[in-house]
Formats: sequence, C-alpha cells, structure tokens
Amino acid sequence: MISVCIFCGSNKSKALVECEECSRIPNSHADVIHSIIMSYSEEEPYLNFVSIDEIEVLRESIINGSPIKIEHATFSVAEEAYSAAGTQGSPQALKYFSKISHPVMVVMLLVFIVFVLLGA
Ligand SMILES: [Zn+2]
Repeated sequence: MISVCIFCGSNKSKALVECEECSRIPNSHADVIHSIIMSYSEEEPYLNFVSIDEIEVLRESIINGSPIKIEHATFSVAEEAYSAAGTQGSPQALKYFSKISHPVMVVMLLVFIVFVLLGA
C-alpha cells in the first residue's frame, strides 16, 4: 500500500492521515478525493484509480509545486467510491457495488475504503 501526500509528495501510511513531513491533513472534498487517488495497492489492484506510474508523475508535479492534474473521469470514479463508502447500505452504495461482479471483492472493497477513511 502506497499513499502519497498531496501537499508535499512524501509517502504516507494511509491516504487520509496527517503527513509526517508537512503535518497537513486532506480537509476539503477535493483534497480527500485526490488523496484517495494518490494511493496504490498491489494486493488490491481493483482499488487503484490510477497506475503507479501516474502516481509518480503526480508526485513529481507536487514536488515541483504544480497543481495536481487528475482527469475528470478518474476524479468522478474515486468520488463515487468515496461517497458510496460514506453511505453504506444506501441505494447509491448498492448501485456502485453492483458494478463489481465478485462478492468477495465487494466486501474487501468496503473494508478497505472504511479502513482508508478512518485511518485505522
Ligand atoms: Zn506532506
């Protein structure tokens, strides 16, 4: 599991925890979604919204002080996953999870998202 700080480009333990390097926490909605996108897990590839290469490119722009450029479609997918996790059991969540065919993956995705969001 790799998470990159969207403020300074350092590695973090979890997407939404405070960065050890710059002590900043993703607060705004866009910051939270960007942080989720800037996470990568080899064990759970279906949870990755961009490739590891794209994360490294984004990390470079953060280090260089450029604004993070994430495709609108990628942002929307991550946003949908995030809002689905925030409203478990709602029709919206069911709609999202019904797109994933394997039931075990659905459970793992749910657990993973809750884990990321709570920073547990
Ligand atoms: Zn940082």
